Amino acid sequence: MMEKSSRIAELFEREDQFLGKTVTVQGWVRTRRDSKAEISFVEINDGSCLRNLQVIVELSRPELTRHLDPVTNGCSLCVKGVLQTSPGKGQNIELHADQLKIYGLSDPALYPLQKKRHSFEFLRKIGHLRPRTNTIGAVTRVRSRLSYAVHQFFQERGFCYIHTPIITASDCEGAGETFRVTTLDPGHPVVEGQADDPFRDDFFGKAAYLTVSGQLQAEIYALALGRVYTFGPTFRAENSNTSRHLAEFWMVEPEMAFSDLEDDLAMAECLVKRLIEVVLSQCREDLAFFVRFIDPDLEKRLERVVETAFEIITYTEAVRLLKHSGEDFAYPVEWGNDLQAEHERYLTEKVFRKPAAVIDFPRSLKPFYMRVNDDGDTVAAMDILVPGIGEIVGGSQREERLDLLLEQMRLKGISPDDYSWYVELRQFGSVPHAGFGLGLERFLQFVTGLPNIREVIPFPRSPGHAQF
Ligand code: ATP
Ligand code: MN
Repeated sequence: MMEKSSRIAELFEREDQFLGKTVTVQGWVRTRRDSKAEISFVEINDGSCLRNLQVIVELSRPELTRHLDPVTNGCSLCVKGVLQTSPGKGQNIELHADQLKIYGLSDPALYPLQKKRHSFEFLRKIGHLRPRTNTIGAVTRVRSRLSYAVHQFFQERGFCYIHTPIITASDCEGAGETFRVTTLDPGHPVVEGQADDPFRDDFFGKAAYLTVSGQLQAEIYALALGRVYTFGPTFRAENSNTSRHLAEFWMVEPEMAFSDLEDDLAMAECLVKRLIEVVLSQCREDLAFFVRFIDPDLEKRLERVVETAFEIITYTEAVRLLKHSGEDFAYPVEWGNDLQAEHERYLTEKVFRKPAAVIDFPRSLKPFYMRVNDDGDTVAAMDILVPGIGEIVGGSQREERLDLLLEQMRLKGISPDDYSWYVELRQFGSVPHAGFGLGLERFLQFVTGLPNIREVIPFPRSPGHAQF
């Protein structure tokens, strides 16, 4: 077993307890600076927190300098020494080295991370090293903390965590955006029309895809366990190179029996607020970093979201506001057209200046499973929009009435035979139920201020990019 060491975060958190004591730390060198005063300052980061620990190495001690000589940025080290109060500015504590061990050297001529700001685009090309930067380190810690908070939130409220399938033969929203899963030989592709089902000889005996949402399967469990949620990766082959779309992203999807759209909306608002509170209270240091380097208004905006009630407007009202806005939108605003990011952002940033939920969308815009409203033209859907991003949550009350579900499927050209199990849930003990999907990466963009979604996931997948 290796020597017991302390995480740097721990040393900063409990300085008083460690001051004057001998401690061991392990990490990667961020900078090294030798002063004429016979001292070398080596800053070490171990990823446990944003801050580096300053290590003081006396150049008059050959047993140390022997090891110190080849130490450069990126090098991995183990340092044992006494933790002392630091006279320098910028840190309260520093480690006075008594023993120094190098795990791995890092050739300064080749190491791509310099002590300067690199563009995010460049960092994406070195995905194996970018977690060693302040920004990606910070967002990774926030992501982890939020993922944990998602589970806490639902578990505290009696939700059961369901592992919905990654591979599915029922695609939730439209075949155009799915990735196919196949073991067929690419050298001998299926010929359409060759057999009744060209995928009959494929692994599953039918066409299969990566899931775009766990919702339909979550509904099965909600109609037995009451309150459930899934939290896992989802896949969409949308060929859009935007700053808020990924081909692989993580979605939080609760599904609640005995709930309507109003309950759904209340739960989503409560979740959004709780997750922001977690960032404000438990990710202080990383949040301060984002405020300083990414978006100066970030913290105030987050505080305001927690304090104010979300605006709720109908789609019809939203269209009216957009039409009378006097703005020159790239996409035309008409009742029946989907809201584009520019429209969403106008509503939440210019009109309301806070999160807003748009409800009751035209039936024609939304999938078959959404519940038809009494007007017959709209469905009980909701999208939650936030400043800077647009949609972060999409949800609905589900159609629980058999006849109306079948009518919706007929109108949308979906065969009930393909969804017989889904239809049967309406025949055997159907209940009103509702749910939503919150995109974890969109949410992370919102709480970090990072402009591109590719920075908030460890390994972004987008058209043409599946490296690392
Ligand atoms: P949009 O219209 O913004 O593309 P959508 O309406 O297709 O999103 P939903 O199917 O409602 O999205 O998915 C629920 C949530 O999942 C969205 O509110 C968003 O937070 C997130 N999401 C959807 N598509 C993506 C994607 N390609 N990359 C990252 N997150 C996504
Ligand atoms: Mn949506």
